Order: sequence, then structure tokens, then C-alpha cells
Amino acid sequence: MTDQEIMDWFEKAAAFHRKRAPGLVIGIAMVSGCIEKLGEVKDKVNAICESILCLSDVIQLMTGCTLGNRYLKSYDKLGRFALTLYDRADGRGVRGSIDIDKISAQETPELYKFFLRKRSDEVKAGGEARIKSGEQVIKEFMTVREQIIKLEDVYLEKFGKGVMLPAARCKTCRESFLRQNDEEECGVCTGEMRYYRPA
Ligand SMILES: [Zn+2]
Repeated sequence: MTDQEIMDWFEKAAAFHRKRAPGLVIGIAMVSGCIEKLGEVKDKVNAICESILCLSDVIQLMTGCTLGNRYLKSYDKLGRFALTLYDRADGRGVRGSIDIDKISAQETPELYKFFLRKRSDEVKAGGEARIKSGEQVIKEFMTVREQIIKLEDVYLEKFGKGVMLPAARCKTCRESFLRQNDEEECGVCTGEMRYYRPA
């Protein structure tokens, strides 16, 4: 993908994500690298995002793998800025990540600080300093992107069409919910997933 194409995607991604996060540009280059290296697939392309960051919005926008159609799964516990795109038919995939060892602290200092979460307190606070830093991160990234994006051929341990869970009515709230096992109550009524209280 050309620099111009990446920046065009950045405009769309920033509108969707509601922030001009520099991570979007990095994500766009990673996703496009995975798409190109994966090549032709037999079935649908599915995606794993290793954490829910701006990267997950890029995946949804560029690949059409979404949380809603269940072609995208997030492995949030991993917390890595990485993704895998794979063929649902055979589990053949490409994992994209960043090789931090290849980022020079001298030549691309702002990018280096961005990945090591070492940008100044002024930048962390937001405002003009953050905008300036973000632009600099993007600028530096575009000069070294080919070197620092790592693309690996992988095979998924688990793949294929997701199982549709059976629906049942909760005996307490009477709402329809998707059953994991043969429980009779939804997660809110059991208390396990109670995330709100009546106002
Ligand atoms: Zn219930």
C-alpha cells in the first residue's frame, strides 16, 4: 500500500474512531501488510485482535471483520498491539506485530517513545502537545514502516465457523438470552454479570 493510500485510510479511520490517534496509521499499515501476505483465501477472512485499542477499529473498517458479524475476536488479555488475519477454512493466517528492537531511539525518537509509552507528561496531558507529538509519530513511522512491521505466517489453533448458542428465556427477567450451558437465568439475574442497578 502506498503512503497516500495509508493516509487516505487514516482519514476514514479517524472519522470512525473519533480521534486522530497515530496508532491508526500504524494499524492501517499492519492490516494492509497482513491482507497482502495472506493473499487468496478459500473461505472468509477472520481476524483476531490481541487487544482492544484503536487497532480493532482499523480491522473492522478495512477488513469488514466486526464484533457484530463475529469474524473479529479480541484477545484482550494478551494486551499486545498485534493482529492475525486468517482463512476460516483452514486456519492459515498472517500475524502482524511491531518489532520494537528495530525502532531507533536516535533516528525516530518520538515513535520510540510512543511504543515504550515514554512520551512527555505534557503530551500525555493532551491538547496541542499531544496533537504535535501524534503528527511526529506518524511522520517518523512512515519513514521506517517497512522495517518495523513484522509479518509472520501462522496456523490458528482453533478456527472455523463459530457455534451459535441456543437461546432461552431467563426464568427471572423473562428476557431472551444466549445460553452457554444449561443455565436457567441470564448473567445479570445470577449476579455474575450485573453491571447496572435500577435508577
Ligand atoms: Zn435474567
